[in-house]
Amino acid sequence: MYKINENYLKLPGSYLFSTIGKKVAAYTAEHPEKQIIRLGIGDVTQPLAPAILEAMHKAVDEMGAAGTFRGYAPDLGYEFLRNAIAECDYQQRGADIQADEIFVSDGAKCDSGNIQEIFSLDNRIAVCDPVYPVYVDTNAMAGRAGNYDPETEMWSNVIYMPCLAENGFVPELPKKTPDLIYLCFPNNPTGSAVTKDQLQVWVDYARRAGAVIIYDAAYEAYISEENVPHTIYECAGARTCAIELKSFSKNAGFTGVRLGYTVVPKELKCGETALHSLWARRHGTKYNGAPYIVQRAGEAVYSEAGRIQLKEQVDYYMRNARTIREGLKDAGYTVSGGVNAPYIWLKTPGQMTAWEFFDHLLEEAGVVGTPGSGFGPGGEGYFRLTAFGSYENTVAALERIRKI
Ligand SMILES: *Cc1c(COP(=O)(O)O)cnc(C)c1O
Repeated sequence: MYKINENYLKLPGSYLFSTIGKKVAAYTAEHPEKQIIRLGIGDVTQPLAPAILEAMHKAVDEMGAAGTFRGYAPDLGYEFLRNAIAECDYQQRGADIQADEIFVSDGAKCDSGNIQEIFSLDNRIAVCDPVYPVYVDTNAMAGRAGNYDPETEMWSNVIYMPCLAENGFVPELPKKTPDLIYLCFPNNPTGSAVTKDQLQVWVDYARRAGAVIIYDAAYEAYISEENVPHTIYECAGARTCAIELKSFSKNAGFTGVRLGYTVVPKELKCGETALHSLWARRHGTKYNGAPYIVQRAGEAVYSEAGRIQLKEQVDYYMRNARTIREGLKDAGYTVSGGVNAPYIWLKTPGQMTAWEFFDHLLEEAGVVGTPGSGFGPGGEGYFRLTAFGSYENTVAALERIRKI
């Protein structure tokens, strides 16, 4: 008689986006004349850049000719892409990462969920609160998170590291010692970033504690400040204690195309065992990794034309971010983020809960955002707005918000 993985039953319902959908539908039914503006989506809206399309078209044609057809991709990903990544994302930044330490994949969500499988169930994880929910959810499904308490909205075996206004939305070192530390900077949802000095403190701590940092750099392309590191490997010693996750989704519009990678340095070892050798056995090798056509599209991200076109897209979103940030400040809101990330994090006014503010914004302005409490208990009393909409809609939304 088969049994199910009962850890799945412990997961609380993910009501966030379905509740938002229901509330918006109800509002639209009541006010059919009102046009809703969505600043809640965590998805890009700009189409693929011409340099990327061109590379994909060319790769499609190659797949149709006997001489250039390709079957299963190599385990780590094609060398042309790994070389471009190693050079442009690491070596040009003074970070010592080699092409054979890069594992190409179909996106950072899968990798951030699967990476926990190479670690024992005995490990204790630490996460920022609030944060992208995938890290906790996947550890809970594996049975590493303990039990969920609906009262506190916390898992019994997870170390939560509060990211609040008092600490600039950057966590302090935890009091209990974790084994796996998930860090995401620039952060989703708070939009906060760490300086190189702040991140060095974490690297030093992990080495002392014998912990591994799993560093999610999905929003690296949005960094605008000089002292914010683009990769954790800018920090001394990170090669022996950190794994880095990266995505082509938010910088190049690949949310539907699917491409990402994970860096596991060869020096990262548990006793004698290199984690590199474990991740080499991950599922997804050959069969579920990124297709040739997509890896060629990824290569074009690093071409001269690609870089120019994608910088324009990032600049476009960041103009939206500035519009939201400055507009909200003028209207008297307490805001952060939006400088090194496409997310603006605002304190809900007058002790409103995150959901009360959601209703308020929808009712009074017809603007949809995301309640901070959907990203962990530390997000209560906060609200996320994203810069991924059109500029026209962003300006219109801010005009409406200023009037309430
Ligand atoms: C969007 C996002 C990802 C997911 O990236 P994909 O490559 O599309 O799977 C990973 N981490 C964070 C923090 C994100 O916000």
